[in-house]
Amino acid sequence: MAVKKVQEVFEEPACGHNQAKSEKDRKKGCTKVAMPGAAAGGCAFDGAKIALQPIVDAAHLVHGPIACEGNSWDNRSALSSGSRLYRTGFTTDMNEMDVIYGGEKHLFKAIRQIRDQYNPPAIFLYQTCVPAIIGDDIETVARAASEKFGLPVVPVNAPGFAGGKNLGNKLAGEALLDYVIGTMEPEYTTPTDLNIIGEYNLSGELWQVKPLLDRLGIRVLSCISGDARYREVASSHRARAAMLVCSKAMINIARKMEERYGIPWFEGSFYGISDMSESLRNIAKLLVGRGASNDLLDRTETLIASEEKEAWAAIEAFRPALSGKRALLITGGVKSWSVVSALLEAGLEVVGTSVKKSTAEDKERISALMGEDAHMIETLTPREMYRMLADAEADILMAGGRSQFVALKARVPFLDVNQERRFAFAGYKGMVTLVSEIHRSLTNPVFDHLRKPAPWQPECRLTPLV
Ligand code: SF4
Repeated sequence: MAVKKVQEVFEEPACGHNQAKSEKDRKKGCTKVAMPGAAAGGCAFDGAKIALQPIVDAAHLVHGPIACEGNSWDNRSALSSGSRLYRTGFTTDMNEMDVIYGGEKHLFKAIRQIRDQYNPPAIFLYQTCVPAIIGDDIETVARAASEKFGLPVVPVNAPGFAGGKNLGNKLAGEALLDYVIGTMEPEYTTPTDLNIIGEYNLSGELWQVKPLLDRLGIRVLSCISGDARYREVASSHRARAAMLVCSKAMINIARKMEERYGIPWFEGSFYGISDMSESLRNIAKLLVGRGASNDLLDRTETLIASEEKEAWAAIEAFRPALSGKRALLITGGVKSWSVVSALLEAGLEVVGTSVKKSTAEDKERISALMGEDAHMIETLTPREMYRMLADAEADILMAGGRSQFVALKARVPFLDVNQERRFAFAGYKGMVTLVSEIHRSLTNPVFDHLRKPAPWQPECRLTPLV
């Protein structure tokens, strides 16, 4: 695979985390070797698939043995308002003969089959470890198939061994920059055309934000990539401004679109009431700076005032029950500060937050929110997490699905706030949902039962049956 591309991604100039490293460390990239006993994240291919699969009307074809597609298929709840083609698993299911003779012909036939049976607007073609090792050239196959079938076939060269999930996200971004963005024109443009980058519409979170933008007359020209259509992404270079959501995963897209097409961007968050309001303000400011009507700023303030009032009124009902409850928050990157701010707004105390994937800027924001004594956790082993919960240092664990069993073993309520979450927590309505879900978890009567001794334990006092 293109080593140069990986190197380029590692040296991303807009990533503060990268730039804070020495030149030598930067070259090593961000991948960390997993230690025995630690849970490892996804591979680069997995990261690329996560980033692009939410383009809902495209076919996503995985070139490799079947388990690569099996492991990555629909492992996030990215929702679609239309086509469901993205949820169909396509793979070349490479076998031993492909490994011996090469899998390129097999791949070409698979592209033809998808074109004949589904006729999608585009096919994303994902490289995985085995074909990369035997030297299958997916770029050449993609080019030949594109010419033959008159259909965009986009090679995504991020085999698993290249690195971790985050690198895969960025390589997916490179594929969009190299083969998709700028290849089509929108039917029309408006002075309020906006790109949202790095938002995957997990559990429908984009739909908690889009109605607000609609009310302000702001058009989402393209969301990269939640609930996206191929055409929208291909014509996203005509946007007037962009927001990079909550993660440095696709920072290369935001930076390069600014360099190539002059689209200004900012990094913001849709989590938490004040962060949501700040993001709306920044969007309005950028758009006005690019020619949108000045009254957008006032209309934005009016909308913020009414939405905040409504959200606070809804949250107020939960405050007495949540006030003083302690949350241990183990999540990644920028979410560490945006969720901290959301929890504080709901009256909870945050006893610790993970900063493993956070940048220096993220950490500064956490200190500003929680004070200088903020307990920032670099690494927390499951054993230490269990100890904290079992010793009642926290009333609820908010983390990714992998940690739920630690919480359940310690008989402590758990709420999934990571990518596999089933509830949408973005925007004002999402904040109310978050607070109500925390409340529901904390007051779930099952935990009272769980904490009682079992009937066979000596201290158990059961009323005898008569
Ligand atoms: S590490 Fe390689 S073989 Fe394993 S899932 Fe990722 S791409 Fe497939």
